[in-house]
Amino acid sequence: MSKRHHSVAFKPYCQHQVHLLPQSLDDLIAPGHPVRVVSQIVDKIDIEPLLATYRGGGRSSYHPRMLLKVLIYAYITNVYSSRKIEAQIQQNIHFMWLAAMEKPDHHTINRFRSSRLKSVIKQVFAQVVQLMADAGHLTLKEVYVDGTKLEANANRYTFVWGKSVKVNKEKLVDRLHELWQYTLSVTADENLHNEEPDFSQLDAEKIQQTVDRIDKALQGKPISAKIRKIVTEARRNWAPRFENYCQKEQILAGRNSYSKTDKDATFMPMKEDHLNNAQPKPGYNVQVSSNNQMIVNYSIHQTPSDTTTLPEHLDEHKRMYDQAPEVVVADAGYGSEENYVYLDANGTEAYVKHNHFDAEHNGKISHKRTFAVDHLHYNAEHDFFVCPMGQRMHKVADVSTKSANQYQRSRSEYRAANCNGCPLRGPCHKTNGNRSVVVSTKGMKLKVEASARLKSEKGIAYRKKRCHDVETVFANIKFNMGIRRCRLRGKEKVNIEIGLIALAHNLKKIAV
Ligand code: SF4
Repeated sequence: MSKRHHSVAFKPYCQHQVHLLPQSLDDLIAPGHPVRVVSQIVDKIDIEPLLATYRGGGRSSYHPRMLLKVLIYAYITNVYSSRKIEAQIQQNIHFMWLAAMEKPDHHTINRFRSSRLKSVIKQVFAQVVQLMADAGHLTLKEVYVDGTKLEANANRYTFVWGKSVKVNKEKLVDRLHELWQYTLSVTADENLHNEEPDFSQLDAEKIQQTVDRIDKALQGKPISAKIRKIVTEARRNWAPRFENYCQKEQILAGRNSYSKTDKDATFMPMKEDHLNNAQPKPGYNVQVSSNNQMIVNYSIHQTPSDTTTLPEHLDEHKRMYDQAPEVVVADAGYGSEENYVYLDANGTEAYVKHNHFDAEHNGKISHKRTFAVDHLHYNAEHDFFVCPMGQRMHKVADVSTKSANQYQRSRSEYRAANCNGCPLRGPCHKTNGNRSVVVSTKGMKLKVEASARLKSEKGIAYRKKRCHDVETVFANIKFNMGIRRCRLRGKEKVNIEIGLIALAHNLKKIAV
């Protein structure tokens, strides 16, 4: 042994020493550690709805409160795979403490996450948020709303486009119609001539019947090999193909697309490369309301646009907390007439930008937009617009449209009397005849009111805070928690996943 080692003092190291009193696991968990916060909060919530998902009988189950704590804590520590959670339960002292040394395996964890939590995750989340609100960590009255697109756990190349389904379905019906017409031209069968099927009301069964009738009528007729080939193909394939298109339309349910590997996922543009180029990928539109950088509400949508999601998202807030928020702050993606009307009807003060607010506020109105309808003078008393040359534009028609959410939007068409020879004709409008504008005067008024609120002292403060509130939430989820893609498939399971992410985000926030 060297001389130098004699002078170093080591603490005693004896791995196999038997302690007189075994140390309690609880002694090893630091006071105020996030794992304790998770445990305390989950102990306080009513898990009756969760217990109701168990049928009873059979083998004893792991306690749902324990599994819930384990899952939330796993998400706090960025552990999302059920196998990795199982490993943590066997080797990580914090998980061991939460699980009280029980050892559920990854199957149990997965089943609990994807089946038991399905119907109760929102109730669990709402209770936790309510506890946080009662403790003064946040308020439910003032929320900042924004959305983000989360890529689905689906193959990017197995897409079904609504447009191509529609076109192919129409083409098939057209081909059947043509074949029918041809058959009529070569047969004198009166029944066939008198009983033409309704080609606008077809289903797979009717297609098969029609093809069979065509086939029968053409039997023994001198038809070309080409036509015979078409009839053979029609008999074999057209009905199942039509059925397939109908099934696809059912899955689409009005969406523009879906992925074959997660049929609930819709293709939407996602800005993910360093140049912010939008690429269509299968995903979900996740809407979040926040307060004090904590998540108050979340909802999953299958449409890429944020505008139409707001009423459903805020209805969810009302359902969870029995009241609508008093203040909603959101960016220009939400500034529609329908949303302003919805917020007003719920007694909510809206600090929601409309799409031209920033340009107008910063004085950066493009030359083109100086002729836009919202820059024309409107005389509300006598209901007419004044065009840039000072000519009156009177109402000529009313136009009513329904939005995706069934909101009835009433607009009117106003037309200038004579644009002939006007020097402003080029920049003003390019259509033939006199200029006409279709506009909702109600929408215009709501935008003016929204602008006034946004420019008020309160509005400026809310606008500043919005960037540091809800956007911070997304930054934490994407960059700190590393959530760039869903792990589970299907809207219901994605809803569970986002619920756990939201719970983890919130509890981490109050724990550290
Ligand atoms: S083109 Fe017609 S609507 Fe436009 S400024 Fe001239 S007169 Fe008015």
